[in-house]
Amino acid sequence: MSGATGSTDEHAGALEADGAGAGTAGGGLGGAAGVAWLHPRDLTEALALRADRGAVPLAGATDLCVRYRGIAGTLPAFSSPILFIGSLQELREITVHEHELRIGAAAVYTDVAAHPATPSVLKRTIAELAAPQLRNVGTLGGNIGNASPAADAVCTLYALNAEVELASRGAHGAPARRRIPIEELITGPGATAIGPAELITAVCVPLGCDDFAFYRKVGTRRANALSKLAFAACGTLAGRSIDRVALAIGAVGPTVIRSRALEERLQGADWQQVRRLRNELVNGYLELISPIDDQRSTSAYRRRVTENLLAEFFDRCLPGYLHGSH
Ligand SMILES: Cc1cc2nc3c(=O)[nH]c(=O)nc-3n(C[C@H](O)[C@H](O)[C@H](O)COP(=O)(O)OP(=O)(O)OC[C@H]3O[C@@H](n4cnc5c(N)ncnc54)[C@H](O)[C@@H]3O)c2cc1C
Repeated sequence: MSGATGSTDEHAGALEADGAGAGTAGGGLGGAAGVAWLHPRDLTEALALRADRGAVPLAGATDLCVRYRGIAGTLPAFSSPILFIGSLQELREITVHEHELRIGAAAVYTDVAAHPATPSVLKRTIAELAAPQLRNVGTLGGNIGNASPAADAVCTLYALNAEVELASRGAHGAPARRRIPIEELITGPGATAIGPAELITAVCVPLGCDDFAFYRKVGTRRANALSKLAFAACGTLAGRSIDRVALAIGAVGPTVIRSRALEERLQGADWQQVRRLRNELVNGYLELISPIDDQRSTSAYRRRVTENLLAEFFDRCLPGYLHGSH
């Protein structure tokens, strides 16, 4: 899907003009509608092109090419220069820093899932995301940048308290970086707080937050189906009680649903307290969601399945971990 091959591939340094002339990719994906295909050598160059050319980042292309697709057999009709960041090594690295995992924005799902420090709830999410071919090119940066309420990895990143690292061109050449919680970054369906000159450079996930993990995706089929609903939960235990729990539900509102107030009700709870709190919590979440009818499902179905998944989590999953029988 990347299109960064053969004669379409040009280094940003060699590009001088848009349009059909020099520096414009001549065929394949990058040649679409005479739009420039920018291939930066490193992050600094990528940030300069983003700022100076208003170039649109492209990593695995699995969302962007669908968004700009034309009729069958034609190339995507991009309207701005395309900035191919999928091959930038510094955006593909996955590293452990003290208590957190730093996942480069352009690391592909296959590599994220294979990393030994990746939390189990994220591995489970990736195992059910799309299909192996797509997981070999798709990225967390693209899932976040697309900001769909049904984005599976985004839902799990909410439950993991992930922070997103953004970079823009700094004063002295070095990238200027900032970090923002994923819940603040995504502001609505397809909308984010990413600035016009910024790139997502990494996703930072705290380690040690998944003594227990639960993930369910509901789609039309097992592979290559966008979610009708996604449900991710994880947390830590203190003996036979809950130390901390985080629960996120995707595709049932304009952004992923998460409630710190409801989660706090579970802090310190043992399995008997979970049983007592269960109805209050299920009703609390059902009040928060606002599912819609769309091409993938109905509001009524999403509401019913949310209730069933909450029941599975509170009645079977959590008690299993708290009994030590999971
Ligand atoms: C057949 C098929 C099945 C799919 N199944 C699923 C599924 O099960 N679950 C799911 O969640 N999604 C699914 N998707 C959607 C898509 O594959 C994912 O959202 C994927 O993570 C996108 O990553 P990408 O690297 O391909 O993004 P791209 O298409 O390259 O980019 C997506 C958006 O993010 C922006 N972007 C990319 N990288 C950055 C960056 N570093 N900084 C700033 N902006 C950036 C782009 O400009 C664009 O707006 C599916 C898509 C297809 C075609």
